[in-house]
Amino acid sequence: MSSRPYRQINRRKSRLIHVGSVPVGGDSPITVQTMTNTLTTDVAGTVAQIHRAEAAGVDIVRVSCPDEDSTKALADIIRQVHVPVVADIHFHYRRAIEAAQAGAACLRINPGNIGSADRVREVVQAAKDHGCSMRIGVNAGSLEKHLLEKFGEPCPEALVESALEHARILEDNDFFEFKISVKASDVFLAVAAYQGLAAACDYPLHLGITEAGGLIGGTVKSAIGIGNLLWAGIGDTIRVSLSAPVEEEVKVGYEILKSLGIRARGVRIVSCPSCARQGFDVVSTVEALEKRLAHITAPVTLSIIGCVVNGPGEARETDIGLTGGGGEAHMVYVAGTPDHKIDSPAMLDHIVELVERKAASLDAAKQKG
Ligand code: SF4
Repeated sequence: MSSRPYRQINRRKSRLIHVGSVPVGGDSPITVQTMTNTLTTDVAGTVAQIHRAEAAGVDIVRVSCPDEDSTKALADIIRQVHVPVVADIHFHYRRAIEAAQAGAACLRINPGNIGSADRVREVVQAAKDHGCSMRIGVNAGSLEKHLLEKFGEPCPEALVESALEHARILEDNDFFEFKISVKASDVFLAVAAYQGLAAACDYPLHLGITEAGGLIGGTVKSAIGIGNLLWAGIGDTIRVSLSAPVEEEVKVGYEILKSLGIRARGVRIVSCPSCARQGFDVVSTVEALEKRLAHITAPVTLSIIGCVVNGPGEARETDIGLTGGGGEAHMVYVAGTPDHKIDSPAMLDHIVELVERKAASLDAAKQKG
């Protein structure tokens, strides 16, 4: 029993699958995904984009394979990146087989869209031969006609039924190494569909609010939708869909996980909005710190608070804290207790150094243990 039960999330028990070397579901960490938006035939451009996502901490990357040239390029791309690659296939079963042969760790494909039972068998066989998992990706915008006729419009029940129909096809082929998503751009619809699916099966779930929007709007929408589900213990891997650079999707994904205490990566800054009481310029300090500490991957907590109203309290809960004081002398807290004072001109470099030192000690401890 946790000493802080109000923070406890009881995770849904899901089946464990693998996307290459990355476990998804079961007790494995909730992973963060993104998708490239370069032409897949532009190998150098796609690899560069994946490297940027890797630097931001991505666990799994999806790449579209709309034609044969793309599946050819896929093998080259996979050789040059470190994270498992999911091949996004829409309808064409040959692309799925080529992607599996090219080394894709997972195929995003809806078996009900491939065509004949023979084709499904061939794709499943290719996945088995090459150690590929799959993702069934149901989307409210492209629901099957018979379900739209049955339900009248995209609704949670229709999304769940579609997902289970696709799942049954794989199960009938003795294939269980898959995860499922039921995305919609409407948060109410997506959340209700995921809740329904979570209750109806034990497959791992890939969460996402599709076409969420630009950086700010999409972040808020995704945080509400994905956050709501994760809080309820639902979800094994997430992708934040933003009309923004891939690394932003990854950063937002981590911020959602960090907010819920699910995964920690990099520096988590607690800072006040600032007001007339601030002893230094909080906004520009936090902006500068976010940039200068972006390279840190160890989970360090840092509080940057403008004055003593909330500074000491927040500093108690963080590894390193800074609280604005009068007369340009600000208090630095280490491990929750007041440690020494620093003046404004030296403050920024000093905090960066303290955080880097703390991160290095965490990294060293991790290496040992
Ligand atoms: S902590 Fe101090 S500076 Fe920051 S908003 Fe509150 S009162 Fe203002």
